[in-house]
Amino acid sequence: MMRQMMRRVLTLAFGLVAILFLLRIDVSGYVTNGHTWGTNQVLYYVNPTNIYISNTAAISAFQNGAYPWSSQTLANIQLVYGGTTNGTSLTLNNKNEVFFRNDSSSYVGETYWWYDYTGHLVDADMVLHENWQYYAGSGCTGSGIYVEDVAVHEFGHVLGLGHTGVGGATMYPTMPGACDMTQMTLESDDISGIESLYPPTSVSKNTAPTVSISAPGNGASFANGVTISFAGSASDSQDGNMTSSIAWTSSIDGAIGSGGTISRSLSAGSHVITASARDSGGLTGSTQITVSVAAPVSLTASPDGTVVPTTATQIVDNNGAIWTIGPSYSILRNGASAAGGIGTKIQWQSSTIYVYGTDSNWWQWTGSGWTKGAPPASGGTTGGTTSTTTSADGTTVPTTASQIIDNTGAVWTIGASSIILRNGAPAAGGYGTKIYWKSSTIYVWGTDSNWWQWTGSGWVKGAPPSGGTTGGTTSTTTSADGTTVPTTASQIVDNTGAIWTIGAGSAILRNGVPAGGGYGTKILWQSSTIYVYGTDSNWWQWTGSGWVKGSPTTGGTTGGTTSTTASADGTMVPTTATQIVDNNGAVWTIGASYAILRNGSPAGGGYGTKIYWKTSTIYCYGTDANWYRWTGSSWVNIGPSQP
Ligand SMILES: [Zn+2]
Repeated sequence: MMRQMMRRVLTLAFGLVAILFLLRIDVSGYVTNGHTWGTNQVLYYVNPTNIYISNTAAISAFQNGAYPWSSQTLANIQLVYGGTTNGTSLTLNNKNEVFFRNDSSSYVGETYWWYDYTGHLVDADMVLHENWQYYAGSGCTGSGIYVEDVAVHEFGHVLGLGHTGVGGATMYPTMPGACDMTQMTLESDDISGIESLYPPTSVSKNTAPTVSISAPGNGASFANGVTISFAGSASDSQDGNMTSSIAWTSSIDGAIGSGGTISRSLSAGSHVITASARDSGGLTGSTQITVSVAAPVSLTASPDGTVVPTTATQIVDNNGAIWTIGPSYSILRNGASAAGGIGTKIQWQSSTIYVYGTDSNWWQWTGSGWTKGAPPASGGTTGGTTSTTTSADGTTVPTTASQIIDNTGAVWTIGASSIILRNGAPAAGGYGTKIYWKSSTIYVWGTDSNWWQWTGSGWVKGAPPSGGTTGGTTSTTTSADGTTVPTTASQIVDNTGAIWTIGAGSAILRNGVPAGGGYGTKILWQSSTIYVYGTDSNWWQWTGSGWVKGSPTTGGTTGGTTSTTASADGTMVPTTATQIVDNNGAVWTIGASYAILRNGSPAGGGYGTKIYWKTSTIYCYGTDANWYRWTGSSWVNIGPSQP
């Protein structure tokens, strides 16, 4: 048998505030109606039909009115939206229904409830009277009422609360005013009331700590090996400040420390860093950032048996030194000549550097110099381009071969700037564009357009007995007026027969040798005069022995590649440009053997593979894998990280 009883609650009044305040003489706390739900989840259904707002807005407003009773309290009760209903009656049907009614009442809203013989609530219905104009969420004007602001009060009744005597509390019987939203925030009196009806259960209401990371910033990147400082904080509603118990982990390195601040380096790669804290109730809070650490500068020794140039362009030995072959077969260690060694091949074998010399012997690096010695056992083959047999009669460099071996075993080649090399070293100052091996004699077609014959120690004029054609690329006739290097020709022949070219580092060459120390990006042959557009952005005129400032009479345009304005910040040679102009107007390039050139001349003995212009400062990436800063006269090592 069930004994059921109905009560009506006179609910939220509006417009009677003054009278009620005058009548009220006591201020007491929350009031309960003596009945609670026998469950911790109370389903309710909404009939959203109304004359003011959309159905969707009405449903959301009622849900927003229900949330505060669980979200702002520790009460062990939850109002759960069950869906819509067509119900419009305040009637006992064991279904909690919420609806509007188009009638007139001095009350904004009312709630009716029923309970069974055990004292537990079994039904509660809520009605909002539409003589009041309703809004949801925003936009309320005039004497309007927010649905959610009424609903939060009425849901208090649904859960078993009566009217409190504490002014300002949500369960106070009158609303503070039109367009009010303050009832959405429960007061301590409301919270005490609901928690007395549905006491909190400590386990279910424990909340996880909140953790934050203040350093480093999310997405930060670091050079390899640097110490990174991590800082964070953690707090917990139940346990308080938990910063000291933060645990730090990296997705790559695992656990990396604990506490509010830690400092350490990380492996190369992209790390997800997690800071977490676990509270006394067993809940863990955490937050994450991503940081990246650059790969280490690789100076791994080359594999055993590596050969330059056959299998690689450089060898890294087990001291990290880089070995290359430079111009004129110079053997370079970190870009600088290695004790004067000249050779056509470098081999890395059994942790030793071997060089096949231009004298056709193998040489072994001692750490400071060279001793004769072939690579052990396998691998030490001369291979490729080097031969120890005398060249065939009539061999011509460069037409039919890249080198000539004479009958003393000497190797003849043409080096940079048309210099004639014998075993890789200049041969008595000869310059020419062709070497010819005929009748056991070395002949060279000189840059002066004469044939010269090697005497064994020097040169005498003398043409080969036959077949010595000048051929190909060399011309003995004076260039046409207006010829420009490099725009219209690769060389200029002046009216003395001298050949003008631009060599490495923009050096101006006359017959292959530097002409009066001139540097420029253009040579112009005009009115029987040689002009050069200097790297200082001035035109210079050849006097026959040196240079004076002077522009060509016509046609002397500076054209294309030379710029007098400082390069853009961040310019990188060779990545984004072929040269950098600093704010002194100096032109920076990378020359042969990675020499760093300033206006075409070696700058402080620097060797590197990159030049970087940043914040009005020149940097170079040295062949030792460190960055260097130009001081104006020399280089300062600033370590492996790019500035
Ligand atoms: Zn009420």
